[in-house]
Amino acid sequence: MALLADGMSRLLIDGKLAAGGAGAFATVNPATEEVLGEAANADAGDMDRAIEAARRAFDDTDWSTNTELRVRCVRQLRDVLQEHVEELRELTIAEVGAPRMLTAGAQLEGPISDLGFAADTAENYEWAQDLGQAAPLGIPTRRSVVREAVGVVGAITPWNFPHQINLAKLGPALAAGNTVVLKPAPDTPWMAAVLGELIAEHTDIPAGVVNIVTSTDHTLGAMLAKDPRVDMVSFTGSTATGRSVMADAAATIKKVFLELGGKSAFVVLDDADLAAACSVAGFSVCLHAGQGCAITTRLVVPRDRYDEAVAIAAGTMGSIKAGDPSKPGTVCGPVISARQRDRVQSYLDLALAEGGSFACGGGRPADQPAGFFIEPTVIAGLTNEARVAREEIFGPVLTVIAHDGDDDAVRIANDSPYGLSATVYGGDAQRAAVVAARLRAGTVNVNGGVWYSADVPFGGYKQSGNGREMGVAGFEEYLEIKAIATAAN
Ligand code: NAD
Repeated sequence: MALLADGMSRLLIDGKLAAGGAGAFATVNPATEEVLGEAANADAGDMDRAIEAARRAFDDTDWSTNTELRVRCVRQLRDVLQEHVEELRELTIAEVGAPRMLTAGAQLEGPISDLGFAADTAENYEWAQDLGQAAPLGIPTRRSVVREAVGVVGAITPWNFPHQINLAKLGPALAAGNTVVLKPAPDTPWMAAVLGELIAEHTDIPAGVVNIVTSTDHTLGAMLAKDPRVDMVSFTGSTATGRSVMADAAATIKKVFLELGGKSAFVVLDDADLAAACSVAGFSVCLHAGQGCAITTRLVVPRDRYDEAVAIAAGTMGSIKAGDPSKPGTVCGPVISARQRDRVQSYLDLALAEGGSFACGGGRPADQPAGFFIEPTVIAGLTNEARVAREEIFGPVLTVIAHDGDDDAVRIANDSPYGLSATVYGGDAQRAAVVAARLRAGTVNVNGGVWYSADVPFGGYKQSGNGREMGVAGFEEYLEIKAIATAAN
């Protein structure tokens, strides 16, 4: 049967698909503003039952200790998602406004296949290590270290790359032996609800191990952060919400894993191919209308070539039209909602108020009467002190900033409350590597290298978060460490 066959999605609680205690809410296509259908709207009672189910599944079943079962179930989930990939592709384009071309990568197919990495990691993991015998305090002792699941994980996710973020939490959390309550963003409820449908109907994942709670009520996320039955909260979203999650989690000292915002720098050194670097910078900020936390939105270029750099970036971005994400050639689709479009527009207004100018774009495209579109925009004439250079805009907007040599470029790149990602372009690879090493960011691309891979950890320094998603590090986030010391005499 087709996914979401009746145009209505359900919650997944304790193995059963269920309606929401608060009724249902509409989900909207951001490219057309048409209502796609409805999603179950959970209330606090639903969230309470979901947490209870996850707690019981962790405490009373062998899920956390049966690695063979978990590995099989995670692979099953990957396989069933792959079987439905074409249906999921159309749903993803419709609900997320994701350009079709990105569904071949991080918007869909990448995260599905990466579930295989989580399963392989669990299968091959060294769960116990023998530290051998020693005599601390003179007492002969055999020591070992074992890793085990943290427990119940509350996963709270945003709307921009929903499959990537939902699955990069679910995969490793489940493979490591945890049970999960997933609360996705209200803007993209179907992207999580389809997982619930497939898990309930096509996998052997035991009841209660995965619970999916869609809701318009943000306080259900806060419930997860506060509840003493939840052992860990894994959050991706804005830095402001992350701060609130961390504060809510403090009362129970639960483990908090945060992937937050960014204002990443694209540094062009004076020996770089300026044309190539600035066109790549312009193109990448248009991808998915700039709604990627790791997108490099500050282009930092040599001062004596500033005007040239602005013209190149504007040439690239001016030629990219925001449009229908379902078309194969579209790079820049809509932003997710009217609220988000208005927020981006307010930053464009701010850029002018701060004394900047637009080298291209600057508002809503005239040829798109419906849908939440913003023109790819280059902001010129401002320094790194401007708010549009310091705050996350989350739209197809690039701010170009001048630097006075390598030290100054590093200073500017690092002068940000964020530290999620960075890019360096330079002619001399050795010199570019030296600059890359000085950048305070969790991922660095040098001359076009790609860090996005199942085995590469991703995450931020400073206010971009703590902990790492993906890679073995992303698996180990979901593990506790237990040392066992047994008297040897
Ligand atoms: P958001 O912070 O508004 O919401 C994220 C999630 O948190 C949603 O599910 C929301 O319902 C929930 N939430 C809201 N208030 C809450 C509260 N008080 N307690 C608990 N949960 C709460 O973010 P968004 O607008 O959905 O997404 C955009 C943001 O996400 C951007 O800042 C972007 O940089 C960031 N992001 C970061 C990464 C990363 O890996 N670092 C990846 C994608 C997006």
